[in-house]
Amino acid sequence: MAPSDTTVQIRRSTDLSRSEIHSLNACFEKTHPSQIIQWAVETFGSNLALATSFSDTLLVDLALQVDPDIEVVFLDTGFHFAETLDVLRRAQVRYEMNLRVERPDPATVDLWASGTDACCAARKVAPLDQALTGKAAWLAGMRRTDSATRSETPIVSIDRRGLIKVNPIAAWPTNDVESYMEAREIIVNPLGDDGYDSIGCWPCTERSTVGCETRSGRWAGTARTECGIHL
Ligand code: SF4
Repeated sequence: MAPSDTTVQIRRSTDLSRSEIHSLNACFEKTHPSQIIQWAVETFGSNLALATSFSDTLLVDLALQVDPDIEVVFLDTGFHFAETLDVLRRAQVRYEMNLRVERPDPATVDLWASGTDACCAARKVAPLDQALTGKAAWLAGMRRTDSATRSETPIVSIDRRGLIKVNPIAAWPTNDVESYMEAREIIVNPLGDDGYDSIGCWPCTERSTVGCETRSGRWAGTARTECGIHL
């Protein structure tokens, strides 16, 4: 069997071949995120989760209009800005979310001193692995405009766990994103107006460099560009 036709074994609800994923990506390139989310909900049902860092509520707003019961996963690393936690608080007031807050194993809380690899692994990657256990697919908010390394982000892919990962807003044009956010009064992190174009944990986030990509303030001055949850 050719590699492109290899069937991908999904833990629960469905199997998708690589050629089907290729076709879905071609089909979804100009599709509104709500319709992509609709496909994901119809395909994976309760075996679908949504992961968000609550830098804003764009993806949550889109998804909850399709399925109010979708599980929303927030990784509480213990190092979030107070402003980020306030976005979460405001989101809980506005939306009736099926929220799951995942926290790191207490035994690993001091790993920041061991370096960002160990810290991200303990505070982000392992908790997301835990949250996605038993799921077949998840929604994430990656956009191709985030950074050069995300410029070819697929809308549908298979992650390292073998789960289907769906990025409904990966290819959504910025003008459309901005129009939607204004029309829906999406909750945003006020740090965005203070020069933070991408917001992660406070020890690893600086203001973005003017004229540089959105995520230029993340792990600034290091070769690191991702925490590991999107690998
Ligand atoms: S972004 Fe920084 S503080 Fe947050 S988990 Fe990774 S290394 Fe730790």
